[in-house]
Amino acid sequence: MPSIWARAVSACRTGIIISKTSSRTRAKYKAYIATVLTQAGFDKPQERSQAIFALEDKIARVHWSRVESRDADKTYNPWPTAEFATRAPGVDWVRYFTNAGIEKQPQLIVAQPSAITGMAKIFAETPVATWQDWLRFQLVRAAAPVLPKETVQANFDFYGKELTGAPQLRDRWKRGVQLTEGALGEAIGAVYVQRHFPPEAKAQMDQLVANVIEAYRTRIAELTWMGPETKKRALLKLSTFRPKIGYPVKWRDYSGLEIAPGDAYGNWKRANAFEVAYYLNKLGKPVDRDEWFMTPQTVNAYYNPPMNEIVFPAAILQPPFFDPNADPAVNYGGIGAVIGHEIGHGFDDQGSKYDETGRLANWWTDQDRTEFKKRTDALSAQYSSFEPLPGLHVNGDLTLGENIGDLGGMENAYTAYKASLGGKPAPVIDGERRPALLPRLGAGLAVADP
Ligand SMILES: [Zn+2]
Repeated sequence: MPSIWARAVSACRTGIIISKTSSRTRAKYKAYIATVLTQAGFDKPQERSQAIFALEDKIARVHWSRVESRDADKTYNPWPTAEFATRAPGVDWVRYFTNAGIEKQPQLIVAQPSAITGMAKIFAETPVATWQDWLRFQLVRAAAPVLPKETVQANFDFYGKELTGAPQLRDRWKRGVQLTEGALGEAIGAVYVQRHFPPEAKAQMDQLVANVIEAYRTRIAELTWMGPETKKRALLKLSTFRPKIGYPVKWRDYSGLEIAPGDAYGNWKRANAFEVAYYLNKLGKPVDRDEWFMTPQTVNAYYNPPMNEIVFPAAILQPPFFDPNADPAVNYGGIGAVIGHEIGHGFDDQGSKYDETGRLANWWTDQDRTEFKKRTDALSAQYSSFEPLPGLHVNGDLTLGENIGDLGGMENAYTAYKASLGGKPAPVIDGERRPALLPRLGAGLAVADP
């Protein structure tokens, strides 16, 4: 797949673990911790870095695998706040919640109970001095983008070069844009939309979304393995999908954030505090269904299960994904497949656990769920057999949601394109009838007959 496509569908952060390089990466990480401590002026950097690394190693070991971490059922564990002390002893939880500003919450959703229990134990066992060093390291590491050049470079050498294989540090002005985006994303988005998102694009997108939803409706109705009861619920869910296109109906207010010229570190610190306060302020209030979790200038899209919404920022509504003047085949093959991908997430192995209102509530009959799992298992096995680099296989269970999205996206976009022709043959462009028949992409699909 072209990388731009991979970028568009990377919202769910799937990935692969390269175990061969992990011992080298661990050594580099230890060295990086020591470098940061040295740059920040602390003595005994080697010794301190060993202790910080050992602590992080322990913390990592009580956490779940990435496959388990994406399981919507397993990660939904409401804990009464009053019970943390007995369920996870080792931390003064009342003090912790009070300092974090969440002491009034009657309960919290714990994603990984054994990690909370494990970390509380580690907290109690670890000397305060080690925690202090760990916090020092974390502060400098997090602030690296606004610190002197050598700290920026050390940060890039580890997180950029070692972890992602990026050959060189991006230009300073680009890093400046990235930081400003992180602090004032929607303020920049408002300007971006004014300059780059014509109203006609929105109208065309509304039509494309409606047609891809219609394709899903047709294909779900035609499924031979799904019973009428589950079908009814699937179609109900499909009918309540809320598309958000281009940019939010109301922009975020940044008036409480103080920006001081010439004070990059101060601006970064204030922006972080502003962000934390923004989210804490939501507690106890109704959910804001108009909120966006990506800025309009982001080339990406997402499906949000608890709100049953599909969201397409303005920046992905540009060539090569979308061109208001292109032949429909181009747009169905580009943004149409992205629309289908996001809808597909509503019916993927995890998204399908949420009902039409966004509740984590089973709406499947047992038999249909078993049939569904047979097909998703086959798709997972197919992807696990792919070997993009020698000895390196895709983890089909980890990437399953994305693979279901891709496959459903392509098939439904193609169905929608064919329907849009209204029975006429596809026009001939540049001597070719486009698009050529799509190859079969997978063994089975959430909402398609295998
Ligand atoms: Zn996705």
